[in-house]
This record gives sequence, C-alpha cells and structure tokens, in this order.
Amino acid sequence: MMMENQLTQHSIQYGDELIRFALRRQPLRTAQRLAIHVEPDGSVLVDAAEATAVEAVLTAVKRRARWISQHVGAARERLAHVLPCEYVSGESLHYLGRRYRLKVMVQADVIPVARMRGGFIVVTVPVQSPVVIQQTLDDWFRGRARDVFADRLDVVAAPLSWVKDLPATRLQFMKVQWGSCSPAGRITLNPMLVKAPRECIDYVLLHELCHLLHHNHGPKFYKTLDRALPGWREIKERLDNRAEELLRA
Ligand SMILES: [Zn+2]
Repeated sequence: MMMENQLTQHSIQYGDELIRFALRRQPLRTAQRLAIHVEPDGSVLVDAAEATAVEAVLTAVKRRARWISQHVGAARERLAHVLPCEYVSGESLHYLGRRYRLKVMVQADVIPVARMRGGFIVVTVPVQSPVVIQQTLDDWFRGRARDVFADRLDVVAAPLSWVKDLPATRLQFMKVQWGSCSPAGRITLNPMLVKAPRECIDYVLLHELCHLLHHNHGPKFYKTLDRALPGWREIKERLDNRAEELLRA
C-alpha cells in the first residue's frame, strides 16, 4: 500500500463547514511547507512530505481553512450551473479511488470507446454528445467493475469458511446503494463502486458475503463482519463520505 502519490481522505471542521481534502504523499518533497490546492471542481488536494505527521497536516490545513473555504465556495459557484457531470474534457473522474481527467475526442465514424491513458480516461466519440459520452463511460465503468469485482471477490471470499462456492453476482446501476444480497444469496453490485478505493470495494463485497450467513443487520451479522474485518467501520465511513461524489453521474 505504499504506492507513490497514493491519496488518503481527511477532513477538518471550519465553523459549520466540514472541509474534506485528499492528502497526497510526496516522497521526494523536501520542503517542510504543505502545498494546498483547490481544484477547479472545488475538491481540495494537499501535498505533504512523507515524514510530515497527519496531525501536523491537519493543523496546517486548519490554519488555512478560511482561504480554502473561500476558494472552494468560489469553485462550487462557478460549477453550480454545470453540475452534475457535463461530460467535457478536463472533468474529474474517479477510478479505484484515484482521480482521472476526462478527455473527449471527436472523430467521425468511430465506434464510441473509452480507454485509460496515463492520468486520463479518453473517450472517443463520433459526435460531441453528453448522452453518447455518458453511455460510453458507463459501459467502460461496467466493464472495469466486472473484472475488478470478480478479482476481489476471489480474494475477499477465500478466507471465509462459510463461502464454499462463490455466489452469483450481477451489476446494476443504483442511486443510493453499493450492493445488496437477495434471500437466495445472489449479490447485486453497483458498477459505480469501482470508482472507490480498493479497500472500500473489498468492504462492500465482504458485507454482502456476510449476508450469505445472516440475512439482516442483527448482532450476529456485525459479529461476523467484525471478525472478518475489524477495521470495517473506518472504511465504511470513508466510503460514505465520498458516496455523493462517486454516485454522481
Ligand atoms: Zn447489509
């Protein structure tokens, strides 16, 4: 988990406002000072050296809270008329917890296709149409979700004694839910979950796999979940904090 530029999510309170930010560790950063960026979409990114303690980061961000709040407010105001997604180049997309930029390329007679290239998700379409771009992106996310979820399901289910055979799964776009488990033991997953960090995907898979044993959220269910993944509450909170953003579009 020590990937370069890995982002972790944090927040500080500023008056009534909760300021969320992503912390990006920069191993080669020597300056003691942090760099705070307010992105065009109003999200906040903080660059810090590997050695800077999280406490020190939080203190520094709190000290700049007024400035951050003003800039986030301004960015949101600028975007107010275009949110949700406008499907134009430069827009932020998330995949496995990392931020990518959308790049739209228009090419006559091309079959719509999306692919990842560096920090970009490049969508090539025959016409500059938000509907076509959205459809192409949805297809791409669905394809990535199918592969990623199948891989992770193997890994997450392996140590669980009650899972003899992997359950049937299906994908379905949902507005407010990441996953569900039917009484018959079929697991439904929201393909948009593939936008979240891998540990959040693992948590959702595990949660649904625990439902194979307990079909409710009773004490036994949570006991099983606690035993399988003691830190699940923290992961769930991280996912909940980003739900609105990830489920958007
Ligand atoms: Zn549940």
